[in-house]
Amino acid sequence: MSDIWELYEKMGICREVYGYGQGILEELEERFQRIDHTAEHNQLKVVKAMQSCQVSEACLLGTTGYGYGDLGRDTLEAVYAEVFHGEDALVRPQITCGTHALALALMSNLRPGDELLSPVGKPYDTLEEVIGIRPSRGSLAEYGITYRQVDLLPDGGFDYDEIQKAIGERTRLVTIQRSKGYQTRPTLSVARIGELIAFVKKIKPDIICMVDNCYGEFVETLEPGDVGADMSVGSLIKNPGGGLAPIGGYIAGKRECVENAAFRLTSPGLGKEVGASLGILKDFYQGLFLAPTVTAAALKGAVFAANLYERLGFSVIPDSQESRHDIIQAVTFGSPQGVIAFCEGIQAAAPVDSHVVPQPADMPGYDAQVIMAAGAFVSGSSIELSADGPIRPPYTVYFQGGLTWPHAKFGILKSLQSLVDKGFLEKCRLKQ
Ligand SMILES: *Cc1c(COP(=O)(O)O)cnc(C)c1O
Repeated sequence: MSDIWELYEKMGICREVYGYGQGILEELEERFQRIDHTAEHNQLKVVKAMQSCQVSEACLLGTTGYGYGDLGRDTLEAVYAEVFHGEDALVRPQITCGTHALALALMSNLRPGDELLSPVGKPYDTLEEVIGIRPSRGSLAEYGITYRQVDLLPDGGFDYDEIQKAIGERTRLVTIQRSKGYQTRPTLSVARIGELIAFVKKIKPDIICMVDNCYGEFVETLEPGDVGADMSVGSLIKNPGGGLAPIGGYIAGKRECVENAAFRLTSPGLGKEVGASLGILKDFYQGLFLAPTVTAAALKGAVFAANLYERLGFSVIPDSQESRHDIIQAVTFGSPQGVIAFCEGIQAAAPVDSHVVPQPADMPGYDAQVIMAAGAFVSGSSIELSADGPIRPPYTVYFQGGLTWPHAKFGILKSLQSLVDKGFLEKCRLKQ
């Protein structure tokens, strides 16, 4: 075999695991071509936006203090507005994470007496406290903003009858989560999000439609702004940061919505005018530039993992053939040993902290112990190769990220190797 095999062997991959992986990959050529095509489209989209906004060398420098007239910050926001098809955008290191960006978008665009509606079921865990589904200090509920939810139908479809009934005089904002997050519902394609927005707007045209875009950016050639979303919101330590952004979040959309968010983030009267970018802008620009191909690498990893583990008889969501609308892959092992061995393999493939062994531990907000594998350059970054799973039935592990395809591939081979080495999977099952 080639010398690349020798290198894999030196890095702890046995012949059977490598061969099994290569066999799976042979069947994925066409799939990968389509992913590359999406990346090509999105790469051009990003470069086109950078050119039309006249990104210049001076934009890569930062300001300090108040940050008045920060050319780089203001230009970057124009670039985001174009890429995510909005009138304006807020892209700031002062937005600390995805939850913060979503909370900011909600709190700044809702007023006491308004109602928030989720027509796609329960939102992401951390939003439960933002909304006040779980009582929490500072929640929307504390400010007299009520919440309604319509669950998806058992087949994953929208419950249009119930959505229509749920929209009332006080309904001001509809929140639509693109990714399934850590649930088992299907992820929404941008086209389906567009159908839902059209339905909602037909009933009540002035409702603000917000999309939680986390994990979805650049997976398709369209973004929610292209299909009528008033706000798209996400985290820069996921897809759009391209692995380089060390912090940050964004809100892109209607000018008024973005301005509301700016007045809330800084202060009434100040809005977007303040907020020094410090020295961070080069990483924001370069990360956005890389984001289309980084997202493609992560997607290839997810598709590879789905095909590999499905063939071995494990249940995977999305399955090996499904079209993809986010970068998360779930694999169910049915036992704690499987989840733990998988995560140990992912950790062992990391460029940072590969020598540590992840352990299941209690986590705030979870009712079971959770094991997490992450050896990332940016702490907690889930566009980098990472995996986690709660230690409870049905013992599912959630896998995502990989800044390059070769690294995602290595991580998945390591996870399989770990399952073999721990005796969870017999080597003889690796016959094609
Ligand atoms: C990650 C994520 C969030 C929250 O982002 P954090 O940066 O972890 O706060 C919200 N919604 C979805 C769908 C996510 O994937």
